[in-house]
Amino acid sequence: MSDRLVEALTQALGDRGVITDAADRVRYEEGWRYGRGTARCVARPASSDEVAATLRLCREHAARVVVQGANTGLVAASTPDQSGAMVVVSLERLNKTIDVDVEARTALVDGGVLLSQLNEALAPHGLWFPVDLGADPQIGGMVATNTGGTRLLKYGDVRHNLLGAEIVLGDGRVVSQLNRLRKNNTGLDMKQLFVGTTGVFGVVTRAVLQLAPKPAQRATALVGCRDGAAVVALLSAVEKDLGDVLSAFEVMSSNALDAVLRHQPNLRRPFAELPAYSALVELSSTLPAASLALSDVLEERLGAHLEAAEDAIVDVLIADGDEFWQLRHHISESLRSDGRMLAFDVSVPRSQLPVFTDQVAALLAAEFPFVRLCDYGHWGDGGTHLNLVWQAADVSDEAALKATLQDRIYELAVVGHGGSYSAEHGVGPHNQRFYDRYADGEVKALCRVIGAHCDPAGMLGTVRLG
Ligand SMILES: Cc1cc2nc3c(=O)[nH]c(=O)nc-3n(C[C@H](O)[C@H](O)[C@H](O)COP(=O)(O)OP(=O)(O)OC[C@H]3O[C@@H](n4cnc5c(N)ncnc54)[C@H](O)[C@@H]3O)c2cc1C
Repeated sequence: MSDRLVEALTQALGDRGVITDAADRVRYEEGWRYGRGTARCVARPASSDEVAATLRLCREHAARVVVQGANTGLVAASTPDQSGAMVVVSLERLNKTIDVDVEARTALVDGGVLLSQLNEALAPHGLWFPVDLGADPQIGGMVATNTGGTRLLKYGDVRHNLLGAEIVLGDGRVVSQLNRLRKNNTGLDMKQLFVGTTGVFGVVTRAVLQLAPKPAQRATALVGCRDGAAVVALLSAVEKDLGDVLSAFEVMSSNALDAVLRHQPNLRRPFAELPAYSALVELSSTLPAASLALSDVLEERLGAHLEAAEDAIVDVLIADGDEFWQLRHHISESLRSDGRMLAFDVSVPRSQLPVFTDQVAALLAAEFPFVRLCDYGHWGDGGTHLNLVWQAADVSDEAALKATLQDRIYELAVVGHGGSYSAEHGVGPHNQRFYDRYADGEVKALCRVIGAHCDPAGMLGTVRLG
């Protein structure tokens, strides 16, 4: 059956610009962890003008749109719904421009450029974009989700490293603030409207990023801690002693680490007996090791903490290479292989992480003893992935279990500790119900006004912020 929108898109974007075949559409229709739908077609514009033309045509044909980057998002916001009526607008072909100003330490980049592609282009200049994570997203997707990553402690998230942006609004208008300046205090910082708002106000087609000098050396340690309180005490001590060179502070519970060691037999067991928590401490510097030997500094300072902390710190291991990062980056997939999983991406003030985690553990022990708490995450930023694992045979109604666990744990985080139900993954269909519950009414009202201006026909995305 002919589809006039598909015909018009094909005329505007060329044959390579539109995918209709069901088998070829599959990878755009299924999210990394959550989200599965059916698309009317996939449009693949290769320039900002083509993005604008695509949105105009979709509007003319009253077709709703979901913008897609690398599809690594974890809240089901990058895939179409199940109506079969939505158009996926993939930016994978909008990936040609990487214009680096080495002296200014900035880059103007197309929205569809992958993080790995950008860092490859920056490497010869001794630079990198330091928002660093275990996936390979597109720059536009990173802006739309305000990606955090494992080195947020040192470099901040995307919001802190974005200087300018070009946006195509829902009806094809283009708003451009491709500011390359670090200092520019001249009214509304428009680009921030599009950071972390999951693409519902417009499509990020270009971005100007602030870059960082690539560290010349890194040193990593794994510190075994008796409990969560010992982890937080270690974090404070390390920040006081080594704050200038501290670049990551990641934490893995014994349950999380145990799953990695069972599912990744090639990775070495760090401790004979796994401590309650293992803290991955990373230092980095642009100074060469000949000027400042970071691994010696790390060993000396952590050795002193080991002595001072008595039995709160169980052991300190200094890494050779990236073996501790390998453990950290394999947690998510190992847990998925370990049973049924429900993932949480919450944050609370750092000082409250041990109490909060103990409360969740007590809740599970009392009411859901068949659920295993496998927590890990960016404790340096107050973020924790409280992933819960159980065996399918132990649960008759999984949907009800998930809903109850989400209700109870988010309430504890948000109301009990002033925390967030989505520390870094953003808002999507997966957690829309909690946005609706916890977002301030005035913020929603403001979003309705901004949405009405930027996307008057309400075509963009599967998320409702207003
Ligand atoms: C293994 C793994 C590890 C991860 N680790 C982290 C982590 O440490 N920290 C963290 O913050 N996140 C993490 N994530 C989540 C994810 O990688 C980020 O949210 C990422 O930035 C999403 O980018 P993307 O290009 O894949 O976007 P997608 O998944 O394609 O889209 C995400 C959202 O952005 C919108 N969008 C995409 N591109 C654009 C655009 N050009 N303009 C407007 N809207 C757009 C989509 O509509 C959707 O709402 C991880 C994911 C995985 C799979």
